[in-house]
Parts: sequence; structure tokens; C-alpha cells
Amino acid sequence: MFSANHLYVALFLFFLTLLGFWGGKTLLTRFRRRPHNDKTEHGLISPAAEEKRLAADESKLLRTYFRGLSYVLANETDKAVAEFVKVAQVDTTTAEIYLALGQLFRNSGEVERAIRVHRDILLRPNLPDEVRQLTFFEIGLDYKKAGFLDRACRTFEEILEQNPSDKAALDQLSSIYVSMQEWEKALSLHHEKPASQNETHIIAHLTAEVAKKYDHSGDKNKAVALFKKAIVLDEKCVDVWLHYGDFLIDNNREQEALDAWEKAFLINQEFISQVIERFEKIPAAKKDAALDNFFHRHLENYGRQRKFNLAYIDWQINSGKIEEAELRLKKVLEETGGDSEAFSLARRLLQSTQPAAGLDRNGSNSLVEDVFAADFNFEKRYYCHKCGFKLERIACQCPRCSSWDSIAIR
Ligand SMILES: [Zn+2]
Repeated sequence: MFSANHLYVALFLFFLTLLGFWGGKTLLTRFRRRPHNDKTEHGLISPAAEEKRLAADESKLLRTYFRGLSYVLANETDKAVAEFVKVAQVDTTTAEIYLALGQLFRNSGEVERAIRVHRDILLRPNLPDEVRQLTFFEIGLDYKKAGFLDRACRTFEEILEQNPSDKAALDQLSSIYVSMQEWEKALSLHHEKPASQNETHIIAHLTAEVAKKYDHSGDKNKAVALFKKAIVLDEKCVDVWLHYGDFLIDNNREQEALDAWEKAFLINQEFISQVIERFEKIPAAKKDAALDNFFHRHLENYGRQRKFNLAYIDWQINSGKIEEAELRLKKVLEETGGDSEAFSLARRLLQSTQPAAGLDRNGSNSLVEDVFAADFNFEKRYYCHKCGFKLERIACQCPRCSSWDSIAIR
């Protein structure tokens, strides 16, 4: 998360931005105020005097900026902020500076301060509507960051009441509903207007979630109708096929369930673990045959893919095909190196083949056992391209930021 050091760096960058913003603005002011000729109209301050006054104001502001900067460098954040706030107060037209300051606080985890800065803006007289709207939006983000989801929802709902086409507010509200698992509310946000391509994917996910809800509450007809609707919306949605398969197996429609899970696998082979673990739901008498069938049908096309191989080796170990599993794992390790999943398979293989080499099946004293059991903290293979969260297993939804389809191989 954000450390104190990050805050100082951020404040420093913020300061530079302010300086750039102010510098540009000053030049502009000077340009505008430059007299077009040398004549001075009677009764007005002479251009020379005006220039002098402006220069004095600017030098005062500049001194305040530099005091702020020296506080940043001395790690005295509070004092630095006080100086920057002074600058923002002197130049009352620049609510933008306040907005940026608020964002900076929020991003640094100082949400209470962000909210205070944003409330300050709202107290200003004659605040333009546009700035008021922007400030409300920022406050919504503050509440969200602070975990006050109900308040954040109300804020974004109010913004949308004023301006139903505010896309940013809509996205924020939708993501909060999703994180609160308020699927129907999230779905209702997308009903107002025709959806873009990207939105269609999200609507498919949400429709599948609502289908699951109806399934759990016993309304099977409604559930199946919604699953089918989700498939029509986005037939390439792994999530929809996995859950539709779950629905089918719960209703004793084994072959259709297997077909649905297979679709998920064919769309994205990285999901093979999620597919294979679902075979546990198949009656024991048919499970092995179904797995055998699955692997042999796909071996030719996917037998060189790492994820497929690891899943296949796992199954080989489970079915006692130890030598074949060893050969295949050796090849995988040679070709693509080890990670926690591969080493956990290696450990299982060692346990099943070398009890004499110091590995006793229950013992924890064996050196080899310890080596393979150690938590090496391998680099996680997947990450969310929306928030950067790293994870070991692919998922349809980011566990941190709740974005859909944002997890990819690093
Ligand atoms: Zn994320």
C-alpha cells in the first residue's frame, strides 16, 4: 500500500504540477495584462504599477511554494500541506488545485483529509455547477476508498439523478454494487441505454450472477432463462459457461454440464484448474472415465501448454501413473521452469516414489520434504491489468478491484 515515502514523492510531484500550473497561468495573466500601447487612460493604475504589484504577489506566492517544498523534503507533510493550502486560498479561482490536493490525499490513504478538502470546496460561494459536480464525484470516491460504501452509493446515485448520462458516476456505482454483490441493482444501471461492446461483457457476467441467485432461491426456470440470456449476450464468457455447468450438474444433467465446462476450457485454457475441479461433482463411478476422456481428447491440441500439462500430471499422479507423470513433469520443468504448482506436484511425486530416500510419508524431518514444502513465494503468474493485483490462479473477476475479465498472464 501507500507508504509515507510515497506520500512525500507524491506531494513533491504535486508541488511541481502546481508550479507548472501556476507558472503557465502567470504567463497567461501577464500576456493578457500587457498594455497594447503606452497610453494610460486617466484614472486607472498605470501598467507599470500594476506590473509591480503583480510581481510582488507572485514572489510572495513563490516563497510560499518553496516553503511548502522544503517541508516536503524535510518529511514534514502537515506543514507542507498548510503552505500549499495557503497558495490555493490566495488564488481563489483555482478550485482545481483543491481538487488535485484532495485526490493526492485520497491516493495516499489520507481519506479524512481528502473529504475535508472537498467539503471546503463546496463551502465556497458562487461555485460553478461544473466544479460542484466534480467535487461531489470526488467525495463519492473518498467514501468508496474509506469503505463507506452506502454513502458512496448515495453520492453517485445523486449525481446520476442530476445527470443520468454521467458515465464515470455510472461506472463507479456499478463497481460498488458489484463489490456489494448487489447484482440486480448493478444490472439495472445498464438498462437505460444501448450497451457498448465492453458493457455487453459486463452485462453477461451480471446476468449470470442474477441467474445464480434465482437458482439458489429455487426458481429454476428463471435461472435457466437468465443463463441462456447471458450466453446470447457473450458466448465467449468463461464465467457464464462455468456457472451454467454448475447449474446443470446440480440438476443432474451431467453430459450438458460437461459440455458447458468444456466450452469454458476451449475459450481460455488457463481456466483448466477451475474446469477440472468441477469434475468432483460428477458421480464417483463416472468421474475417472470423464477425466480420462477429457484429457485424451485434448492432449493433441493442448499437450504442450503448461497449465494443461500440470493438470494432466496431477490427474496422472491421482490415477497412479507415476512414471508417466514423472517424465512429463521433468519435461515441463526443463521447458518452462518451476513455480509453486509444479513443485507441489514434484513433492507429491517424491512422496509416492522415494520413501527410502529419507522421505517418510508422514514425516516432516526429511530434508527433501522440507525443500519442497517451503513457501518459496514464487512470482505469481497472473495479474489484474486494472489494479495490478497479482494472483496465483486466473479468475473471471479481480478479488481486489472487482473488475471483470481483467486477470491475465503476466
Ligand atoms: Zn483488479
